[in-house]
Amino acid sequence: MTERDRQTTGHNAPVFRFAPSPNGRLHLGHALSALLNADMAEKTGGRLLLRIEDIDLTRCTPELEQAVIDDLIWLGIPFDRPVRRQSEHFPLYREALDRLKAMGLVYPAFLTRGEVKARVSAFEREGGLWPRDPDGAPLYPTEERMLSETERAERLATVERYAWRLDIDKAQRLLGGPVTWQETGDGPTGEIEADPAAWGDVVLWRSDAPASYHLAVTVDDAAQGVTHVVRGLDLFHATSIHRLLQTLLGLPAPLYHHHRLILGPDGRKLSKSLGDTALSALRTEGKTPSDIRAMVGI
Ligand code: GLU
Repeated sequence: MTERDRQTTGHNAPVFRFAPSPNGRLHLGHALSALLNADMAEKTGGRLLLRIEDIDLTRCTPELEQAVIDDLIWLGIPFDRPVRRQSEHFPLYREALDRLKAMGLVYPAFLTRGEVKARVSAFEREGGLWPRDPDGAPLYPTEERMLSETERAERLATVERYAWRLDIDKAQRLLGGPVTWQETGDGPTGEIEADPAAWGDVVLWRSDAPASYHLAVTVDDAAQGVTHVVRGLDLFHATSIHRLLQTLLGLPAPLYHHHRLILGPDGRKLSKSLGDTALSALRTEGKTPSDIRAMVGI
């Protein structure tokens, strides 16, 4: 909440946000998230914001964004306007990246996915075990942290696709101590110690994509004055990176509530390609918003 908002509303009401990516139709998992946000906002006298996470301009479309809004209205979810669109705030994310660069925490990384994979396979063929992040992806090799300024400049001038990555060790050294967050969700609760090193040198920016999810979400939660982040347990570990970035950038820490996930019949997390759980399909079948509440167990 900005100072101006505070003056207009006259109090420090909690601020929640629902932040879907419009790269597919909303499904039951999104319904649970949106309904929990709305219920918690109502219970605490707070506001609910809608943020459209459309950084991936190739997969997010205006039609899918409108479908998100239609689904939320149908569900009876009251959200404040205007809706924030990440694609309209790239300069703000750039500013945050530049600050981290000025702190010497970010470096350009040039290895392709294929090159990383080859390196990991070679290492594991020799019997080693390459470290993986909480999503199971191999950590990015760290040797490019050491490139000289001349080597960097040379590659930046010749290599077309690269990424700006956070030197996680340097970032942690700078902080000098653990970062924590307050958690009230369906997984571990209480004061959780962040473990950003589990992600290795995360991408903050790609030469062909304006900002990473981690950077944009951190900047936006602060810019929108979000006090309560309510989202799925699949993002529990990502919070370690968000708390690290918040601390480095001097941004406030929201409270976190990571809720259970709605699983498909195969026991896996629902994805947007699972058409039969799309809210629009359920609506066409004749389901009502209260049926949806019952289906997600609230
Ligand atoms: N945009 C993300 C998604 O649709 C959620 C981001 C968040 O809630 O932090 O999965």
